[in-house]
Amino acid sequence: LGGSISRALQQMSNATVIDEKVLNECLNEITRALLQSDVQFKLVRDMQTNIKKIVNLDDLAAGHNKRKIIQHAIFNELCKMLDPGKPSFTPKKGKPSVVMFVGLQGSGKTTTCTKYAYYHQKKGWKPALVCADTFRAGAFDQLKQNATKAKIPFYGSYMESDPVKIAVEGVETFKKENCDLIIVDTSGRHKQEAALFEEMRQVAEATKPDLVIFVMDSSIGQAAFDQAQAFKQSAAVGAVIVTKMDGHAKGGGALSAVAATKSPVIFIGTGEHMDEFEVFDVKPFVSRLLGMGDWSGFMDKIQEVVPKLDNQPELLQKLSEGTFTLRIMYEQFQNLLQMGPLSQLTSMLPGADLMPKGNDKESQAKIKRYMTMMDSMTNEELDSTNTKLITESRIVRIARGSGRLVREVMEMLEEYKRLTKIWSKMKGLKIPKKTDMSPL
Ligand code: GDP
Ligand code: MG
Repeated sequence: LGGSISRALQQMSNATVIDEKVLNECLNEITRALLQSDVQFKLVRDMQTNIKKIVNLDDLAAGHNKRKIIQHAIFNELCKMLDPGKPSFTPKKGKPSVVMFVGLQGSGKTTTCTKYAYYHQKKGWKPALVCADTFRAGAFDQLKQNATKAKIPFYGSYMESDPVKIAVEGVETFKKENCDLIIVDTSGRHKQEAALFEEMRQVAEATKPDLVIFVMDSSIGQAAFDQAQAFKQSAAVGAVIVTKMDGHAKGGGALSAVAATKSPVIFIGTGEHMDEFEVFDVKPFVSRLLGMGDWSGFMDKIQEVVPKLDNQPELLQKLSEGTFTLRIMYEQFQNLLQMGPLSQLTSMLPGADLMPKGNDKESQAKIKRYMTMMDSMTNEELDSTNTKLITESRIVRIARGSGRLVREVMEMLEEYKRLTKIWSKMKGLKIPKKTDMSPL
């Protein structure tokens, strides 16, 4: 997908005249890409129509920066499609709220319930988990395990088979205990769909949730719209969470879920772990949908910094190859400390918000600490892309050599792994040559 969108835009930027034909070709290319990214056909068609209305060919002909106008139009249109126009119900700390999770089995409900609880617990809330999934064997055990790990109170039963009864009992129990965020996990069995939706209706009716969250696997494809709509009809879905965004799927189904439920996406799941959970941010999401980094500003930024990067041709090469080694991280850190050009670029990529910023004292100290540890590494270690190379005994050696703790070396290696993920998104990126920079 990323490839084809980049290609479409590349073609566009190569064309000297942007007329209707070029615009259509470009839109068709992007349409294909968005369909591949699981965006519903109807939504893509709507977008196409809107873009044509927005992008005034006469304006383009008047010599404005054509590529920029079209890029921004597409980007903004997709952002708009993810905004249902009203925010979802937001629970208030200290005031009891019931939040019910719905979604098909395997979508990530139970995992996400815990993440949601954990996220709020860290902010000082008193969350609690209720397992109203009596269908799947082991459902209660799974929730119990998760909850125990996060030290969150939970409620469920191995004996009771009535999900409504458990849900009500659980909610009542935790209300008495002054929990302010009571989370009800439900079943999502595939078979007997009608029965599932009836069950959701009953649980919702009995527990009167303040918010119903529809959990959607980012890879469900074109099925997203119907699924979201079906859940919306049985319980008043008010928000969406998209899971497994760490995988290959771009999550275009989220646009359908928003359209079907008229509710916003509030969080995304980015891994199996409890803290792999992020507040939904529309711009990086759309960037990803389009297969690039932060599009809106990225190209502008590249134009600004490429001249400065010109004296680092090797780094540029590696950037587009997607190879990321500890040595590159080292160089990157050097850059960050100097607020060099590369840091400006990488800071615009999705996930980069997690990156240590070079501009506050604490991060600077951290970066310097990491660099000290890397100074104790061998060339082989610095230039390898194989993280398995750095065995336990090597970690101990690096720690000793740099006068740091083993734990700190491991933390640094974790950071490396995380940055590798971000870096891999740059793969295949076409860095425009200076000659391409002139406005079309
Ligand atoms: P449920 O049936 O809807 O309750 O789904 P589960 O919570 O049991 O999750 C199904 C599987 O998806 C489990 O193996 C989870 O670890 C996994 N999973 C859930 N969320 C994520 C995520 O954001 N990323 C990844 N990689 N896996 C996830
Ligand atoms: Mg479950």
